[in-house]
Amino acid sequence: MVGGKQATASKRKPSTAILNGEGSVALVPVSQDAVPINCAPIVSSYNDKIRPLLDAVDKLRNLMVMDEGIQLPTIVVVGDQSCGKSSVLESLAGISLPRGQGICTRVPLIMRLQHHSSPQPELSLEYNGIIDPTDEANISDDIVKATNAIAGGGKGISNSPLTLLVKKNGVPDLTMVDLPGITRVPVHGQPENIYDQIKDMIMEYIKPEESIILNVLSASVDFATCESIQMSQSVDKTGERTLAVVTKVDKAPAEGLLEKVTGDDVNIGLGYVCVRNRIGDETYEEALAIAHELFQTHSLLSKIDKSIVGIPVLAQKLVQIQANSIARNLPEIVKKINDKLNYCLSELKTMPKSLSSVAEAMTAFMQIIGMAKESLRKILLSGEFEEYLEDRRCTARLVEMLNQYSDALHKCDESDPKKNFLVEEIKILEEAKGIALPNFLSRNAFLTILQGKVRGISSIPIGFVEQMWSYVEEVVISVLMRHSENYYQLQLSARRAGHNLMAKMKERSTEWMKEIVDMEKLADYTCDPEYVSEWNRLMSQQNAFIDGVLNDEKRPSVVAIEGVGEVEVGVLRQFPHVLGHSCDLKMRLTAYWKVVLRRFVDCMALHLQLSVSNLVNKEMEAEIVNELMGPCGGDIERMLEESPAVAVKREKLNKSIKKLRDSKVVVEKIMDSINSYGD
Ligand code: GDP
Ligand code: MG
Repeated sequence: MVGGKQATASKRKPSTAILNGEGSVALVPVSQDAVPINCAPIVSSYNDKIRPLLDAVDKLRNLMVMDEGIQLPTIVVVGDQSCGKSSVLESLAGISLPRGQGICTRVPLIMRLQHHSSPQPELSLEYNGIIDPTDEANISDDIVKATNAIAGGGKGISNSPLTLLVKKNGVPDLTMVDLPGITRVPVHGQPENIYDQIKDMIMEYIKPEESIILNVLSASVDFATCESIQMSQSVDKTGERTLAVVTKVDKAPAEGLLEKVTGDDVNIGLGYVCVRNRIGDETYEEALAIAHELFQTHSLLSKIDKSIVGIPVLAQKLVQIQANSIARNLPEIVKKINDKLNYCLSELKTMPKSLSSVAEAMTAFMQIIGMAKESLRKILLSGEFEEYLEDRRCTARLVEMLNQYSDALHKCDESDPKKNFLVEEIKILEEAKGIALPNFLSRNAFLTILQGKVRGISSIPIGFVEQMWSYVEEVVISVLMRHSENYYQLQLSARRAGHNLMAKMKERSTEWMKEIVDMEKLADYTCDPEYVSEWNRLMSQQNAFIDGVLNDEKRPSVVAIEGVGEVEVGVLRQFPHVLGHSCDLKMRLTAYWKVVLRRFVDCMALHLQLSVSNLVNKEMEAEIVNELMGPCGGDIERMLEESPAVAVKREKLNKSIKKLRDSKVVVEKIMDSINSYGD
């Protein structure tokens, strides 16, 4: 029997899926009586109920709901170059499309065919946001013009689609996308990677499960090695959403064609349709008649089952497949629109409120400053947690820093009493010799050594001031940024103010620290009784020490002093006359140095506490207000401006929401009318 698998398949009564009241799919039978050939419409009007569904999908497509990641049921026309894609579409639409050699289709051409009752066709092109009415005489030229406008005048391709609306008496209600044909070798003037570009575009269209792949194959080629077949197989293994159209049956030797379309070696689940397109200057009616004649009379072609030949059959199949696909996918589309809309709405809700008046801005400003102050008070002064700070306990970190500072002071050379024991004291005493009684201790000598020691350590407290403020600055800036993150202008001002303020605080503290250093250099004083008792404790060992140095017969090189350690004494033996005085001087300095170091640490701790407290409670707010209202900050009104990133995101969300709301209206309407079928 002729027709084989296809013929058997087509004997089942075809049916078209329509959504029933519950939004699930019900099947209603479709008439497949003799397809009219020469008279319009080429598809009978059974699709009156499908039309609104298709319209709804087309409306969604126009709303660009696909940009929101919602795929629509789409018939995608693919095929190798010059296999006859545009010719097939032409045949279906009954209009002339640019045809011929080279790459004609350079942008996705969305072709919407709509049957209408008026005998006068209405054609329009839609691209780049403009709608351009046209007519049958000019359509071909206008498509070329529009293509040039979208993809440039060269031979390159573009992803941006061109929509062709054809309202014509007798056309099937169909929406299809024609894509550029697959070319292996770039022709002159085409980009090198044209093959990949086209392949990517085709894949993007045929990948979604919702797409129906209309694979156009020239009768003369070997289907198995055909590139478009390989592509569609890669996304639709079983071929359940692939339909093949075999063109140019008039040109190829008819032997073997029958086997090709009945054998189905390449998994075409939706079947084959063989067609002979219009060629040259034939009219559509002529072309249709010639094709009809060919399939009736050709010795070999006439043996192919009539249910898989001719444009009218193709039209009918497509309408049916399209209806099934829409009916199957619509509930999911409705759900996706709702889900995406809800997602966008909740995203928008989590975005910072945009400020619309000065009063609002002022309130927001005061709140932010208040919150930033509160955070800083917590983390810098009372030692509480703030989850978002990595270095959580800032007060603990400050104490740790103070301890390190104290250690640095105590461990430096100046604080080591053993080092060069008495050497400097002896030298200074020798230089300070004057005409005076020998048993008076020179205060000048004491001060000279003290000054040297203070000078020696002065970089430590100054360095600490620097280090401490750098840390506080880090904390303050991060708190300010965190609290003002939703208000771009305020954030800019707050950052500037934060850095300025920190620079000021640092400078002030450094000045203060320099003064402390100067004070310690200028005079020696303490009311701390610890000084005298320590001196006494050290001095009680003086005689034993001198004895050890001068009278010990073993002449040891080191002698131990409690509270100082083991000291080198070899060199001291040359200065027996100043040994007593220099020892006294050393012991005074050692006892006093402890007092000096303690003062450096204690003062710093208190200063730190006071400055941070001032910063948090007074200065920060004043500085930010100055910055925001001052000459470079603009004014509070500028706070109303959003950060560019936030503004872009908000705008994008609002656009999506509008699009999805419009889409929702479209699908709700269609669902309502489907539900009313049941009544
Ligand atoms: P596309 O590149 O796939 O869009 O192919 P076109 O539709 O531009 O067709 C390429 C060439 O094949 C044109 O010259 C058409 O006239 C010719 N052609 C298309 N279909 C048929 C057909 O069924 N029979 C014959 N003889 N020529 C055809
Ligand atoms: Mg083409």
